[in-house]
Amino acid sequence: MTDKAITSIKDRLRSLTFPGADGDIVSLGLVSDIFVSDGKAYFSLSVPAARAQELEPLREAAEKAALSVDGIKSAVVVLTADKKAGEAPAQPARPAQQTPRQPQRPQQPAKQEIPGIGAIVAVASGKGGVGKSTTAVNLALAFQANGLRAAILDADIYGPSIPRLLQISGKPKTSDGRRIIPMENYGLKAMSMGFLVDEGTAMVWRGPMIQSALLQMLREVNWGDLDVLVVDMPPGTGDVQLTMAQQVPLAGSVIVSTPQDLALLDARKAINMFAKVEIPVLGVVENMSYFVCPDCGGRHDIFGHGGVRQEAEKIGAPFLGEIPLDMAIRETSDAGTPVVASAPDGVHAKAYRTIAENVWNAISSRKPRSAPEIVFE
Ligand code: ADP
Repeated sequence: MTDKAITSIKDRLRSLTFPGADGDIVSLGLVSDIFVSDGKAYFSLSVPAARAQELEPLREAAEKAALSVDGIKSAVVVLTADKKAGEAPAQPARPAQQTPRQPQRPQQPAKQEIPGIGAIVAVASGKGGVGKSTTAVNLALAFQANGLRAAILDADIYGPSIPRLLQISGKPKTSDGRRIIPMENYGLKAMSMGFLVDEGTAMVWRGPMIQSALLQMLREVNWGDLDVLVVDMPPGTGDVQLTMAQQVPLAGSVIVSTPQDLALLDARKAINMFAKVEIPVLGVVENMSYFVCPDCGGRHDIFGHGGVRQEAEKIGAPFLGEIPLDMAIRETSDAGTPVVASAPDGVHAKAYRTIAENVWNAISSRKPRSAPEIVFE
């Protein structure tokens, strides 16, 4: 069924011509791999960034074409801006075999600022399970508690957890049929791929589709005026993360690490990745730093507390603060009532607010796009 559906979608897409070019969008090589799962179709169309707006009808037509195939209940088609803004005419991103000229992918894609958003901060980690999403959501709430206009974008497309962490369900609405109105809880605006596709749907997407979906979630959402947008990045340091770091106009990154993680080089890989694309590492947060025994009140340095501070100092990345390993953090996080929102006067909220303040100071003290000040051994 899946292969047949993909072939049928492709056939229908052949009836769509690309405005200003000779040929249909399939033979021009503009259609990405088509992914079909559980009656839902996902694919992207590669178009020049400068023409993205004008090509919206083409995107809609492609969605309609996919929906006209038997067994396809929904279709998500996104436009991949494959060219620098303003760059001239439509060139196929992946040319069909007969096309003689191979268009070049830009080395350093243009990073268009997003109107109304003061600073975009990526929260990243070298690997999964270190508490990156928990930190990201509490950090965003802490910015808000500190009086800043904050929002969160879940870029962890493989395993979006912001809908669960903020206890938001349902699908976002659009304002004028195009721009998405972000979802909201605890006064925090949020956008996540998890709102657009069902949780548990395997995101077997390839790089270009992920980038395209992410860029749309950034640019085609009515964020309003924000001081800071926190981006929960996917874990790890693969090509997708690197490309995202290259394409999103980030003010800087916050690396979340457990005490042994930085020493074991995982977090360092994340730091290296941002350094490579000249995005300032605003600092490192030590998560699950120490454990306070709920019975005896004693403090236990299970993972060797302080490892992150020492390692961060060694490589010249600022230390932003530490968060203990605490059942309250796990339980509130897993229940969708993050600790900064549910216990705003508690000790954990205070710790996150201190980190938010440190991050904000780090952003404010940097000139935009300054080179990272990281020294590697
Ligand atoms: P990641 O985004 O790095 O995969 P998550 O934020 O999803 O990690 O956290 C993984 C698990 O660890 C979750 O169950 C979360 O509730 C828990 N967790 C995160 N930080 C803490 C903490 N400081 N104390 C206790 N549990 C935590």
